[in-house]
Amino acid sequence: VQAATLPAVGHVEVREVPDPSLAEDEDAIVRVTKSAICGSDLHVYHGHFGEFAPTYPIGHEYVGVVEAVGGRVGDLHAGMRVAGSFFAACGVCGFCRRGRFSLCRDVKVFGFGPRFGELPGTQAEYVRVPKAAVNLLPLPDEVSDVQGLFLGDALTTAAFGVRRAEVAPGMNVAVVGLGPVGLLAVMVALAAGAARVLAFDLVPERLRQAEALGAVPVLADAAAVKAARSLLGEQGVDAVVEAVGRRESLHLAFQLAGGFATVASLGVFVEPEIPLFLARGFAKGTTLRVGMANIQAEWQWVRDLVAVGRLHPERLVSHTLPLSAASEGYRLFAERQATKVVLEVG
Ligand SMILES: [Zn+2]
Ligand SMILES: [Zn+2]
Repeated sequence: VQAATLPAVGHVEVREVPDPSLAEDEDAIVRVTKSAICGSDLHVYHGHFGEFAPTYPIGHEYVGVVEAVGGRVGDLHAGMRVAGSFFAACGVCGFCRRGRFSLCRDVKVFGFGPRFGELPGTQAEYVRVPKAAVNLLPLPDEVSDVQGLFLGDALTTAAFGVRRAEVAPGMNVAVVGLGPVGLLAVMVALAAGAARVLAFDLVPERLRQAEALGAVPVLADAAAVKAARSLLGEQGVDAVVEAVGRRESLHLAFQLAGGFATVASLGVFVEPEIPLFLARGFAKGTTLRVGMANIQAEWQWVRDLVAVGRLHPERLVSHTLPLSAASEGYRLFAERQATKVVLEVG
């Protein structure tokens, strides 16, 4: 099968790789119809997760059709249209049994290489999905393939952040970082009844996109906190979603938090330590939450909101390319010329 691979850091190449096959009773083989490029794929692209074998497929956001199933996959059957979680959880460990799939003792991320379980990625014509009943989500006719593509990671991650920030109707919400996940968090916060969503970034084009989705754009420069204060007055920010994962963005999120606000951070932090001014957090009663999205616990309600037309993640797609042009897609995304790149696989 054809798949996007990473024979060298910063160099994506589509080539023939071995066919995936059913290895366990709980596996499914999915014929991938579309796979997207995610911000965390750039960690792979830039070599942050080490070097990969030349025939190892990369990518982790996908939608497709079940091609074949093992004997123990619940209600799944060949021909079903499905979205897949970006990571595979085992479904049976203590964490999975309590619905904490992102903490699974045997968690594996598709396309992230040997450090993350060596599960072959999804920017490929076919992919093997372990524990398929846990890690695949059936799609109703109302959810298009492009919409489904957002359910296994970006949109559900944003929704997880909005829930973890305890956004409630009437609240003032801040979203820091307007990559795809940040823009989707704007969308979800508004759907959740936020009164105002302030959207922070340094890139003017991203601010324009957030504004088009209904947010109030604010340049994330040294005057950002002041600007928020003058926009919101005494009430301030009730909930913050941080969608970058760097020192500067976490500091801004922490400063923006008003009294008893919750900051939910979705960014993938690679810095070992980030100092925080906790005396300020103490004075404001700030709650800080970090962590990887618990996709399989959240994606049903997110899918249902998409199905009834309350969320439109497809509005973020800026480029649609064939799988054979994956290298170009990564380049566009890495150079920030694209908001969201969709690879048409089959
Ligand atoms: Zn991702
Ligand atoms: Zn588990």
